[in-house]
Amino acid sequence: GLRRPARALVSVSDKTGLVDFAKGLAAFGVELISTGGTHKALAAAGLQVKEVADVTGFPEMLDGRVKTLHPKVHGGLLAVRGKPDHEAALRAQGIAPIDLLVVNLYPFEATVEAGADFDECVENIDIGGPAMIRSAAKNHESVAVLTGASDYALVLAELEEHGGATTLALRRRLAQKAFARTAAYDSAISHWLAGEIGVAAPDYRALGGQLVEALRYGENPHQIAAFYASGPRRFGVSTARQVQGKQLSYNNLGDTDAAFELVAEFDPARTAAVAIIKHANPCGVAEGSDLADAYELALRCDPVSAFGGIIALNRKLDAKAAAAIVKIFTEVIIAPDADEDAVAIVAAKKNLRLLLTGGLPDPRAAGWRHTPVAGGFLAQSRDNAVVDEMDLRVVTKRAPSEAEIRDMKFAFRVAKHVKSNAIVYAKGSATVGIGAGQMSRVDSCRIAALKAREAATTAGLAESLAKGSVVASDAFFPFADGLLAAAEAGATAVIQPGGSLRDDEVIKAADEAGLAMVFTGVRHFRH
Ligand code: 5GP
Repeated sequence: GLRRPARALVSVSDKTGLVDFAKGLAAFGVELISTGGTHKALAAAGLQVKEVADVTGFPEMLDGRVKTLHPKVHGGLLAVRGKPDHEAALRAQGIAPIDLLVVNLYPFEATVEAGADFDECVENIDIGGPAMIRSAAKNHESVAVLTGASDYALVLAELEEHGGATTLALRRRLAQKAFARTAAYDSAISHWLAGEIGVAAPDYRALGGQLVEALRYGENPHQIAAFYASGPRRFGVSTARQVQGKQLSYNNLGDTDAAFELVAEFDPARTAAVAIIKHANPCGVAEGSDLADAYELALRCDPVSAFGGIIALNRKLDAKAAAAIVKIFTEVIIAPDADEDAVAIVAAKKNLRLLLTGGLPDPRAAGWRHTPVAGGFLAQSRDNAVVDEMDLRVVTKRAPSEAEIRDMKFAFRVAKHVKSNAIVYAKGSATVGIGAGQMSRVDSCRIAALKAREAATTAGLAESLAKGSVVASDAFFPFADGLLAAAEAGATAVIQPGGSLRDDEVIKAADEAGLAMVFTGVRHFRH
């Protein structure tokens, strides 16, 4: 993996630290080649340096648009050392290998930021620089590529340590940085050009992304918006075929995505599951003997909020479920597939959108989520934790019954998809009360209990739906009050991550109230 560079090509717009670094390279006997401005700076510092034009035998032309775009450069960067046919080709064409590439690009971002006019911005789009960076990065087995002044010290230290050689580990790391740089550079260009022509601008999240469609507007009518597909294929809104209905809005897409991700928590081979979503939170989720049964149970949880909701199914939409769903106003149905009869039933509701994705996403799959913050973004891996029976630890004197365990597992999986603070009451594998997005956990408990009472009233029942339910909390109960509110509402068992300083106090309160409680050790905050 060690490689000793013999020749370096240096072509930098930002000359900070350049001379010292080049002197360092020269001290290790590295031969230097560079482009016009860089050559001038190095020669002025008294360094031995060759002009690229002398290497290529071709003058820099078109205002510098063509300087290094030449086989003598790219052949030297791309040839795999020690590969007989590559070495023979270099010899035949009289091309000398380039082992180290130092490039920083035309300052496109800074030019835009300085408020330059359109033509000046265009002129600051570097072409040869990214091309060389990508050649060298692809061939990192043989070539080290430096794309910023911060890499200089790193490489000199390594040359020092390894007697003038670089390690494969460093060259790989440099290659990864190099591709990140060219990707960000092109993204900045596309973002700027998008702004110039007034379309919703792709940013970092659309890196490598494909425009699916421009949207009418964003979260609100004064915001522009677009939908991009990026990253590994995941069944959902990005793979969906829209069978009917008008174009989905930005909010529809977000809510539909949330609905489908939630319903995918439930294995279709084991159970039929339905989720009804409003404003990214579920207002009813249920498993059932079939989809129609699951839908009726999900609807019972909060039939008022379900109006104009988004419905996700974990199995192929059938006629019976379609007939049940079209009875009330619904914005979107999303399912892996649909029967012909079901499609015909939905067709009677012209505005109802039907999306068929071709499959369910894997809730355990790895992936990334990005959230913007002022001047940047947060990146985190997906919450792909799925709590199962074996993860549950009973902490109370009373152990939960089979039915309670089933409901607790169900409720906790739903809670994962509810904005924090999330409280979910469930009974018979159906939610009966959901409290979402409150700043205090006790408030979420109270709202969920209130919903369970209201749902009972709507259904003409005297007793709250929360009677005999289990309750799931997305994070630990910091005090016993939330837990006691749940017990008062009628919950008999509790599932929560545990891990509070006051766990002992909370467990004691659970024991005194005759509750069964399990800890999952997994938290599902969702903001
Ligand atoms: P210099 O100051 O040495 O004349 O130019 C250095 C800059 O030229 C670097 O930012 C490098 O990325 C860029 N560059 C090198 N080769 C080419 C090329 O063939 N075309 C364009 N447009 N830029 C190049």
